[in-house]
Amino acid sequence: MITGKRITQGLGKAAMEGAKGESTKTSKRKTSVTSKKEANVDHARIERAVREILIAVGEDPDREGLLETPARVARMYAEIFSGLHKDPSVHLKRVFTENYDEIVLVRDIEFHSMCEHHLLPFSGRAHVGYLPNGKVVGLSKLARVVDEVARRPQVQERMTETIANMVEQELGARGVAVLIESSHSCMSMRGIRKAGASCTTSAMRGIFRENLSSRAEILGLILNQKR
Ligand SMILES: [Zn+2]
Repeated sequence: MITGKRITQGLGKAAMEGAKGESTKTSKRKTSVTSKKEANVDHARIERAVREILIAVGEDPDREGLLETPARVARMYAEIFSGLHKDPSVHLKRVFTENYDEIVLVRDIEFHSMCEHHLLPFSGRAHVGYLPNGKVVGLSKLARVVDEVARRPQVQERMTETIANMVEQELGARGVAVLIESSHSCMSMRGIRKAGASCTTSAMRGIFRENLSSRAEILGLILNQKR
């Protein structure tokens, strides 16, 4: 049984901003990553494609309200798919040696992603917990990993697995638990049109997969302590 726990909640924008602030040292490297990302996204091609879609659905892409839309969509796609050109595991490389051997859980990490089947957004909250094996990582780094993994064409199941595998591999954690709750626009806007339906996925690694009481404990921490 694991008794101690360190829980952080609501690591959303504030944590991301904090993370930005603490990485001013590496701003030079960040700049080159940004320009590489820009080079990887063909804005002109997106603009042509969006114009084609507008024509195909029966719109007039030359009417005033739509004139800037292709360029706007291109910039937006470059932003929301920017995770394609990043390796989120870099955030887990700077670890601290700690004797702390209880659960570390970051709850309610807000994210926005794009369903790769429909290119419609799905968004919600991710909860990432692990049982360290001598190595811990800054809490905001877990939120950064979620953010970058989300900024790709995604399915929620793969997103959950990717985060769990990354935390397990990079930290060598004794156990990892990732639970993601979200709502999908492709369910509410189209198809069966069920607004408000939520989708939960989980990925358990190590002790949280093998040991039922450990799994029950982390799931209890994630699910039962909601406001
Ligand atoms: Zn979808």
